[in-house]
Amino acid sequence: METKKATRFNHLQKWESTLAACIRCGYCFEHCPLFKFTGWESDAPRAKLITAFGLLSGELELSETSADKMFNCFYCRRCEAACSSGVTLTDVFTDAKKDLVEMGYTGPGTTSITEPYCAQCLLCVQSCPHEARSHGENGIETDPVKCQSCGICVEICPAEAAKIVHTFGTGKADLIDASNRFLDTHTSAKAIVFACNWSYYPDLQASRLPESETHDRDYEIYVNMCAGRLETETLMAPFINHAWGVLVSCCPEDDCQHKDGGKRAKKQVARLQSILKSLDIDPERLQVVEIPNGDKTLFQAEIDTFIDRLNALGPIT
Ligand code: SF4
Ligand code: SF4
Ligand code: SF4
Repeated sequence: METKKATRFNHLQKWESTLAACIRCGYCFEHCPLFKFTGWESDAPRAKLITAFGLLSGELELSETSADKMFNCFYCRRCEAACSSGVTLTDVFTDAKKDLVEMGYTGPGTTSITEPYCAQCLLCVQSCPHEARSHGENGIETDPVKCQSCGICVEICPAEAAKIVHTFGTGKADLIDASNRFLDTHTSAKAIVFACNWSYYPDLQASRLPESETHDRDYEIYVNMCAGRLETETLMAPFINHAWGVLVSCCPEDDCQHKDGGKRAKKQVARLQSILKSLDIDPERLQVVEIPNGDKTLFQAEIDTFIDRLNALGPIT
């Protein structure tokens, strides 16, 4: 059988022994926001390593579908933190993407694209924390290898021309729909918590706690890829739908992986707090808290404090 690895996967080649080091334990599964959203094993971090292994060995035929899987990643690195074998998965995915781009595949997977009606204002180019956007012959282009799917260009684009097509539940419309659905279907619902996936987002086991252990569902948690990109509509929609409050969790300022996400989130919340105040709504109903990566205890304590505060304030009348 013809082997494809020597000529086609020059960047992936160096990970051959690492790909074999993955013991397929599956610890990475429950931390991956893509897998949590789709429930498909083929979207889990382990499956992407197996796909990379298959492509490198030539046992898996390269197709649009197998290539696209490698472009689906938010680079949150939660899989790496959970990996029992110390595999640096995102480095593997990045090298796989380099090879695929050289072969003509560009995703987009979770990487951003630009619609033809782009105004070419260059705001996204200046704002991309990963230098993935540039102005080229064909207008604004995204380097799919450098793009880490943070969505900051999507939030900042005044023409709504920068887009992430495959959001896996983390885009503006997804978050608004999901929070509205929760508020509509739970009579005890009081709050929406928007959790930056980099700071803390509960694993699947925590998400499956019985209702009695999750405050009878008086709040629900939704993941986003950077607290600094939470749009006004996303944060205000729950108030229109009778929520008592909205809590945002972001990373400590020095920990932000997307340059100033925490600062931007605080600025956005402060701006919206003054709008709430002008509407005679207590600004404390919208708050932002810093949660260091993986600090489950602090995250829960901050939510409990917020819910206690909302209970003292009561519903918005
Ligand atoms: S980096 Fe995040 S999104 Fe990407 S595979 Fe790992 S857990 Fe999933
Ligand atoms: S911010 Fe939007 S309109 Fe401006 S250059 Fe980028 S994609 Fe085009
Ligand atoms: S701002 Fe984020 S989503 Fe947009 S191109 Fe840069 S890394 Fe990708």
